[in-house]
Amino acid sequence: MECLRDNPAAEAQPVQTKIFRALGTLNTIRAYGGAPRETLERAEKRVLDLDDALSVFKPESDISRLNAAAGQKRVHVGQDAMRLLKASKRFSSLTGGAFCVTARPLSVLWKAHAGRGSVPDGAEVERVLKAVGDEDLVLDEPEGTAMLARAGQAADLGGIAKGYAADEVRRILTEGGVTDAVVNLGGTVCVIGERRNVGIQHPDRCTGIPMGRLAMKDGFVVTSGDYERYFEVDGMRYHHIIDPKTGFPARSGLRSVTVAGDDAATLDALATAIFVLGAEKGAPLAERFGAGLVLITREMDVFCSETLRRSFSLLSAAYGMAAVCRSGAQNVLQRRP
Ligand code: AMP
Ligand code: MG
Repeated sequence: MECLRDNPAAEAQPVQTKIFRALGTLNTIRAYGGAPRETLERAEKRVLDLDDALSVFKPESDISRLNAAAGQKRVHVGQDAMRLLKASKRFSSLTGGAFCVTARPLSVLWKAHAGRGSVPDGAEVERVLKAVGDEDLVLDEPEGTAMLARAGQAADLGGIAKGYAADEVRRILTEGGVTDAVVNLGGTVCVIGERRNVGIQHPDRCTGIPMGRLAMKDGFVVTSGDYERYFEVDGMRYHHIIDPKTGFPARSGLRSVTVAGDDAATLDALATAIFVLGAEKGAPLAERFGAGLVLITREMDVFCSETLRRSFSLLSAAYGMAAVCRSGAQNVLQRRP
């Protein structure tokens, strides 16, 4: 996602930038107007620490230790992991299981096949699906422990961690006196202060080429899309967001889900869940959480919630003069024939 400022003249202000890798992505913190360097450093350190605690790719992380002890014993986890595991279980029940923190065995299966350029057969998926179930994640908050009930189970906070990290970065920047900044944690964008245009990635164009833009002031914009991580076999795309009901990459008719609001961890989980659920079930869910919603469908139609109508605009030439029509509670901006 690209952030474009409404007032280019203001770019002359002093700017502090931090660009770093963490959470499996590239992260940028950009603060304007003489922000203290130490504040940005503290924010970067917090994201790196979260990566250390939450990553499934780091053997010493809380989540890796939890996964290694599945079916055997409880493990002590830090406050961040506990908070996110608890939030994940809550989202699992609020979304009818669409958000699923224990979907990792399926992600591992699909990743193994991606490496070979093959697709698992139904029986293989069914077998792995048996290891999935958020009710098997048992948390003891007072004790600070977590356990996965059965061997072979595994948790993964990839659907919510970037949002939580963005919340933390905003907190640190704001507490440190930063009043004007843009943070982009691999597509999870936070705007502090000034109104800015946040680009919504075009699903079929290079990273950074937007399909639309959202004018945001003080808030978050979070996107889940099928273009972020995927492989193709025989012309079919297999992406990284798993439908826990089928065990296959979600096929809900959506290419991307963008949600906007004030709590990035919630928005992150919401975007992933709506991607799994599809437009019809997803739109009321966004409304329930008070989140603005922009959906791009497989047909490249763009749905925009009433709440974002004034702040959202389509950019791509092909969709430039969008016709507006109604579809249920949602406004639909349609491609011109
Ligand atoms: P996001 O990009 O926020 O939509 O998150 C996608 C990541 O979350 C994947 O790379 C997996 O690590 C994990 N994930 C995949 N499917 C699900 C799901 N149904 N619920 C929760 N997390 C998931
Ligand atoms: Mg997410």
